[in-house]
Amino acid sequence: MTSNENQDHSVPKTHPRYESLKYRHKIIGGMKNLVVAEAGLIAHGRGECFDYILGEKTTDSAKKAIEAAVAALLIAEKPVISVNGNVAALIPEELVKLSKILKIPLEINLFYQKEGRIEAIKNVLHKAGATKIHGVDTKKMIELEGLESNRRKVELIANADLVMVPLEDGDRTEKLKKLNKKVIAVDLNPLSRTALWADITIVDNIVRTIPEMIKITKELKKLNGTQLFKIVQNFNNKVNIQNTLELIIQYLEKQKKGI
Ligand code: ATP
Ligand code: MG
Repeated sequence: MTSNENQDHSVPKTHPRYESLKYRHKIIGGMKNLVVAEAGLIAHGRGECFDYILGEKTTDSAKKAIEAAVAALLIAEKPVISVNGNVAALIPEELVKLSKILKIPLEINLFYQKEGRIEAIKNVLHKAGATKIHGVDTKKMIELEGLESNRRKVELIANADLVMVPLEDGDRTEKLKKLNKKVIAVDLNPLSRTALWADITIVDNIVRTIPEMIKITKELKKLNGTQLFKIVQNFNNKVNIQNTLELIIQYLEKQKKGI
């Protein structure tokens, strides 16, 4: 039994905020196992706050972005899914499953690098069923010029045409865009630099997004390239983010009236 699971046992299933606490404890367990950086706890808290004002559900605008993201991933030539510590701690099995059904490689890419962290994340992904994990062997990595953070060290991402970046830092999203790559972001904050820079922004909690993406992949796999291309073309990220903000406003108005 992992310490992640141990942590879960302290939360009674009857607790009204069981789901939220369950994932909070996965993050804490992840930190104890080196998978999550200390700052990852704070990032998670920021995410929780935005999730609250979204009503903790996958909104219609998030569903639209998910559909466009899956279509884009299915037609991309060299797509890569970037993995950080929080994602590995929260939903490793689903992430590996998504990577397998889309046949898209996983690459570990960290903002905070600490002795043993990459190894710890690699082990979590292996345990979740991943057979090949990139971003581990420094000999295969190159550095993206003009980027200061550790996120500059990449393997397959260097030549990718599309990169999915769950819980990303804005600096690297900007850099990836300047290198002419398409970017799919999963970020609960619709106003983060990552959300605003990305081509497709899924404003949703990663723990709901990945299972939804798996479901949508099964549906969209039935379509041909032209149909998938149309889905991507018809998606307008700016309008979709504006719709998300509108949904937040409506949700808060409704809550205000209910007090
Ligand atoms: P940016 O650098 O893009 O401007 P930031 O500096 O505000 O963003 P970071 O710490 O760099 O924030 O990125 C972490 C982001 O991940 C935050 O915007 C946070 O809302 C988001 N986040 C945290 N947990 C989750 C989650 N479970 N699902 C989706 N997004 C999340
Ligand atoms: Mg940031």
